[in-house]
Amino acid sequence: MIAITSNHITDERIAEIVHHIEKHGVQAHVSKGVDRTVIGIIGKADPKLAEQLRQMSGIENVIKISKSYKLASREFHPDNTVIKIKDVAIGGEELVIMGGPCAVESPQQIDDIARLVKAAGGQVLRGGAFKPRTGPYSFQGVGVEGLIMMAEAGRKHGLLTITEVMTPEYVDVCAEYADILQVGTRNMQNFDLLRKLGQTDRPVLLKRGFSATYDEFLNAAEYILAGGNPNVMLCERGIRTFETYTRNTLDLSAIPVLQSLSHLPVISDPSHGTGRRELVEPMSKASVAAGADGLIVEMHTDPDNSMTGDGVQSLFPDQFAKLLLDLEKLAPLCGKTFNTAKSFTFA
Ligand code: PEP
Ligand code: MN
Repeated sequence: MIAITSNHITDERIAEIVHHIEKHGVQAHVSKGVDRTVIGIIGKADPKLAEQLRQMSGIENVIKISKSYKLASREFHPDNTVIKIKDVAIGGEELVIMGGPCAVESPQQIDDIARLVKAAGGQVLRGGAFKPRTGPYSFQGVGVEGLIMMAEAGRKHGLLTITEVMTPEYVDVCAEYADILQVGTRNMQNFDLLRKLGQTDRPVLLKRGFSATYDEFLNAAEYILAGGNPNVMLCERGIRTFETYTRNTLDLSAIPVLQSLSHLPVISDPSHGTGRRELVEPMSKASVAAGADGLIVEMHTDPDNSMTGDGVQSLFPDQFAKLLLDLEKLAPLCGKTFNTAKSFTFA
């Protein structure tokens, strides 16, 4: 249930209403928008509470949210969530480009790639230190050493960093070294991991499970939000369909649908979404045209020798740079800005 306040309500009155709600043994989440404030009531509320709220001064309307996810819903938070990390705002006007290898391999590899991501105009360096591999004998990532290598490359080149965390026990160490924590498709419903991420203040990029519905996806985000971490972005990375030509089917509809159902930023991953290098450029552009707030793209200096099988979907550095130049022209037509020459200076 949400209570929508009148336009000119004072902070004192909001506090009184919150106090009244909490006396009923449920939680109140206040979300201040440009025009109005929404107070979300989380928990099983006494039916009398809705009636009481309707009669209270300062309250304009009380609406029942029928969806199972609440904090992630657009009703609950009418304005877009904008996640600010240092100089970068995700979910705002600026398109955010995350680029880098599937896996961190060596200090030289991640440093070279970071330099190229930065030179092309990207804002975030991606790279897995812990890799969720389908088979147990495949390369599993270089672990904590990789986190250290990536943090150093990000710092040196003025990029934010994003890395995947696979288990609750590794959340703290990943949060120590990376600016954004990624939950992979295979872990979208690892509820212990989601709960643990709810307790950190690090922004989380939650990838859609490859067979998850929008409802399941948003409920997974709800776990993190309900734990107290409001900084969640959703990532469409392709779903499994009957088609085998592409690795997955990138569900472009997910972008506008998720943005209508939720206020959380939506990022598209055309690399895992297609599994084919030649499709990354068109599907990146299609994602921006569909309204994506950002892209996460694999790029490698030597994709043929990449330590995961994802070299086949990794752009060469010049392709990555060309894509970003094209996006600079496309973004303004799609309600975004993107400037390849912008330089970020992180302290
Ligand atoms: C990745 O980003 O390298 C990755 C493993 O992604 P996903 O979880 O979408 O397969
Ligand atoms: Mn990968």
